Amino acid sequence: MANDQPARFDAIIVGAGISGMYMLHRLREQGLKVQVLEAGDDVGGTWYWNRYPGARFDSESWSYGYAFSREILDEWNWSEHFSGQPENLRYCRFAAEKLDLKRDIRFETNVVSAHFDEAANEWAIAAEDGYKVRARLFITAIGPLSVPQMPVIEGVDDFEGESWHTARWPHRPVSFEGKRVAVIGTGATGVQLIQEVAKTAGHLTVLQRRPNWCAPLHNSPITPEEQADIHSRYDEIYAHCRTTHGGFIHDADPRRLLETPENERNAFFEQKYAEPGFGIWMGNFRDTFTSEEANRILSDFVARKIRERVKDPETAEKLIPKDHGFGQRRVPMETRYYEVYNQDNVDLIDIVADPIRRIDRTGIELESGHRDFDMIIFATGFDAVLGGFNRIDIRGLGGQRLSDKWAEGPTTYLGLQVAGFPNMFTLVGPQNAAGFGNIPRGIEQNVEWVAGLVRHMLANGLTYVGATPEAEADWLDEVARSSDKMLLSKADSWFTGINRNVEGRSRRVYLLYTAGMPAFREKCDAVARDGYIGMVLA
Ligand code: NAP
Repeated sequence: MANDQPARFDAIIVGAGISGMYMLHRLREQGLKVQVLEAGDDVGGTWYWNRYPGARFDSESWSYGYAFSREILDEWNWSEHFSGQPENLRYCRFAAEKLDLKRDIRFETNVVSAHFDEAANEWAIAAEDGYKVRARLFITAIGPLSVPQMPVIEGVDDFEGESWHTARWPHRPVSFEGKRVAVIGTGATGVQLIQEVAKTAGHLTVLQRRPNWCAPLHNSPITPEEQADIHSRYDEIYAHCRTTHGGFIHDADPRRLLETPENERNAFFEQKYAEPGFGIWMGNFRDTFTSEEANRILSDFVARKIRERVKDPETAEKLIPKDHGFGQRRVPMETRYYEVYNQDNVDLIDIVADPIRRIDRTGIELESGHRDFDMIIFATGFDAVLGGFNRIDIRGLGGQRLSDKWAEGPTTYLGLQVAGFPNMFTLVGPQNAAGFGNIPRGIEQNVEWVAGLVRHMLANGLTYVGATPEAEADWLDEVARSSDKMLLSKADSWFTGINRNVEGRSRRVYLLYTAGMPAFREKCDAVARDGYIGMVLA
């Protein structure tokens, strides 16, 4: 065989984050020859790339890790209830070592194309460095938020000072000490970052387009007693997460806000606001997700909190969202974020009122005048969910491009397969439950379901699996039906596929399955039980 013949595997997985790592483990366990192709030089995915100061879990650490491995659970101790990026990355490395994954991961491999070869019934995959490989199964584990997006601002490349995008943060410490720093973007990333930069920057200028509703994280170290308790309750914790809508420890309160007396609901809001984690969002009255009136009452409560915490009334008003209610977009969790705006070294610019005209060599020109900066940080998010797919030239039956098929919005079956793209699985792809929740919980469900399907194929001598267009159309209906009930489908955010920096992303699409992880698991289990209904197996 000539040396330039592509290597052959049973499965190629793209991405060595939480989902790619687990998929590798599960398929290898079944005796498959598997390789993971990873663009970075280490495992960890989102925790590898997003190393900006302040990056940390918003899920309780002890509800985030892999639940499938008793050994990993027993041997790993989280140091904080919401642990930071360095520890999270160490955890990923620890899991990779425990499962001996690295021997089957090819790092610094940026996949550029994947074409389905119908005659051979296999995928031909190529990387930027010329590496070519063929495999029966092609599995994307590329994460929903993996393609950093720079803002479309004139002169964005002209700045000669230090400049970083949060999702491509350098692997060395960056000092803000005494510097004039600008941060553009106030999503979950910007909020975490701003809290840190404000501690040491000479002057921090936050350039905010639209504020988000933020809520206190209430992080704390895990005491030895808590550690022992967490370890003794892991089964119970993960069993509970399997019952909650988003796979978090928090779940919507069964009461309706609109039927709860005012004093009772205010006491409940206060309690949730004072509790650690997503309780104020995910654990609130169930109608806050669906009723504009209920949501407005909750939003008014959080607005009052912001006004209490920010001393300057004008600044407080700038920080209160007016175009959407609490939880309609992803709620950034914060630690003294609002108090940052009481500091003398911080100012907030509303760039809707005072637009950015351009970025130049020395700083940013606003309508109100020019400001010099030593550093500009872009916390401007991602080309969410679809960006990772579009970056790879994926072609299915008849040479159809996935990007063409999805030009008007994605269509999938269970968010795991795409009609016309056989033997391809999309872990945390569009219209999957994992994207809206405690992601590792959704990932475990997806990986285990795909592994079950592969086991079924191996046991029955099957080599081909493809979703039918009818099943895909039905799934889109189901995704749309459940999403349309939720207020979050009525706001512009990455949840609804809006990104003004990317051409073609100004129309809302169905990116997430929002009926919850238990409903999703039931659906997937039923599909499997009925002999993988909606899929052609041969
Ligand atoms: P994001 O939520 O999309 O926020 C991007 C920010 O940049 C927004 O404030 C946006 O303003 C602003 N922006 C974008 N383009 C701009 C432009 N041209 N001019 C001015 N401002 C611009 O991105 P993210 O904060 O990186 O968060 C993305 C997701 O990552 C989160 O929703 C969350 O799911 C995940 N995340 C998770 C964690 C965690 O779990 N701990 C931490 C961080 C992020 P507009 O709102 O006006 O568009």
